[in-house]
Amino acid sequence: MQQLEWMKCKAHELRAHANDDAVVILPVASIEQHGPHLPTMTDTLLAYETSVRAARLVHQRGGKVVVAPTVWSGLSEHHVAFGGTLTVDYQTFYLILRALVDSMTRQGFRRILINNGHGGNMDACKMATQELTLEFGIPLVSTTYPVPAMAGFKEVLEDQDFVMHAGEAETSMVMALRPELVDDSNLAGCANPYEGSLGEMHSSYRWQGFAARTRNGVLGDPTRASAEKGERLLDLCAEGLAKLILDTDLWGPSADIRLDQTGGVPLKDD
Ligand SMILES: [Zn+2]
Repeated sequence: MQQLEWMKCKAHELRAHANDDAVVILPVASIEQHGPHLPTMTDTLLAYETSVRAARLVHQRGGKVVVAPTVWSGLSEHHVAFGGTLTVDYQTFYLILRALVDSMTRQGFRRILINNGHGGNMDACKMATQELTLEFGIPLVSTTYPVPAMAGFKEVLEDQDFVMHAGEAETSMVMALRPELVDDSNLAGCANPYEGSLGEMHSSYRWQGFAARTRNGVLGDPTRASAEKGERLLDLCAEGLAKLILDTDLWGPSADIRLDQTGGVPLKDD
């Protein structure tokens, strides 16, 4: 089988991927506290694993894809108060992404999917996607890996609707992949249920750290996490990502529906 992980490819294999117009999946994540029971690598582990599983599905379905190494340095200032956290600011994050997109496009890759694994990177990924699309003139897509699978998460999880932080979903997925890194001696004691949704719309925005929302660094309830649920969630995420990669409309040229008399300024990617 064709090697789908950038780090395991030889240079000539990556030249072949570029010649195939493969989509590069660029996982981005964080190293940050995940409560008393999960390792700081949680987001980095899950962003890469969902990327590799998605790549296998795309390959099986005849698509072309390769997975870059994970950018583990994310925006985690809101977790610093709990320790165990390494963070960068937006400018640094953006410049890392810019340098990697530049490296990829210089060797012929034209389609890049940023697969984010960390809530604190979501706004930054959108902003970077906008700026890099305009600068490099390529179809650049970003997502946060569980979002395309959100409906399925509701069916698998019992105590949460969605991912939260170090709760039922993330604990289950780490149990499926690296059970030896999960301290399951008191999962019920780790629970920090959060009223409301992390994705809800607010009428205003004020930045606040996690210390304002959680006593122990957890948002959610890992009590009923299991490896079996984790496997199902990882496969749902892979399926959602694979659909994005194989969606030809998503990667096609932007529409231009301006009336003749209202046009006048060319689109950036013309
Ligand atoms: Zn996380």
